[in-house]
Amino acid sequence: QLNQSGQSRQSGQSGQSRRFSSGNQHKGDFGHVLTIGGGQGMFGGAALAAVSALKVGAGKSSLYAHPDYQSQFHLDGTPLYEVMRCHDLHAIDASICFNAICLGPGLGRDDWGWAQFKTVTERLTTNQRLLIDADGLYHLANSDNHSANRLENAIAVITPHEGEAARLLQITVAAVRQDKPAIVKQLAQTYRCIAVLKGAGTLISDGNSVWINESGNVNLATAGTGDVLAGVISGLLAQGYTPLDAALQGVYRHGLAADDYCAEKKRHSVNKAGGKTLRASDLWSYF
Ligand code: AMP
Ligand code: MG
Repeated sequence: QLNQSGQSRQSGQSGQSRRFSSGNQHKGDFGHVLTIGGGQGMFGGAALAAVSALKVGAGKSSLYAHPDYQSQFHLDGTPLYEVMRCHDLHAIDASICFNAICLGPGLGRDDWGWAQFKTVTERLTTNQRLLIDADGLYHLANSDNHSANRLENAIAVITPHEGEAARLLQITVAAVRQDKPAIVKQLAQTYRCIAVLKGAGTLISDGNSVWINESGNVNLATAGTGDVLAGVISGLLAQGYTPLDAALQGVYRHGLAADDYCAEKKRHSVNKAGGKTLRASDLWSYF
């Protein structure tokens, strides 16, 4: 729910809503995101998501990735100073530590990725805030109904692009394109969650209504922008936004960041062929 200060969050014990303008808060008040991803050779997606959660205001960000990655995480040779390493996925049993879980960026489709997916979905506590993207959606599509049923108890958001949506509903991409409003609604109903169907004119549904996002441009069609969105929505979920608000505002702000980038670079909605192109991590300067 939005309060008059424009934002609200759940404050565990008291249940009170606090204004962000208050100076008397610490990082624990802004939520902790746990990102689970970064299988072999695919660390970048998980790193983009984990940092993006902080960029939209989450208080803390932890990352659980394949043990191949060193104890200090790096992206392009730069340490991810602010991101903590989670060494033990079973720590999610104590889910109170994590206000939102972001499952899937760079997770991989191999046995390791599947094992992490199963660990998380089997341990989901009621009302766990959860976002599933990318290879997390691959495993969700391939799991039995059991996992989908568990989403019902979670406070979940899924963020498929057209191909991922087709797999989730076991239909063709052409069928997804034919009626995207109906498809996003069907996704939300089937998986009992908020569904975000990404692409030009991203659609969001809670199973009843459908929203179309109008920010963003074709420069987002590049590697890693989906991982940034996953982190953005997870960061908002961790701060206590309802899943619908987290999805609506996350998608809008992600698109707006791309629009602001292009306006500043004087490359508004142009083909990427000429001049400066957007990299997913460029969006970080515009949140
Ligand atoms: P992914 O498909 O996971 O790589 O995510 C790509 C991100 O870029 C999503 O947020 C899409 O909505 C966005 N995107 C991709 N292509 C376009 C486009 N042509 N116009 C606007 N947004 C786009
Ligand atoms: Mg993606």
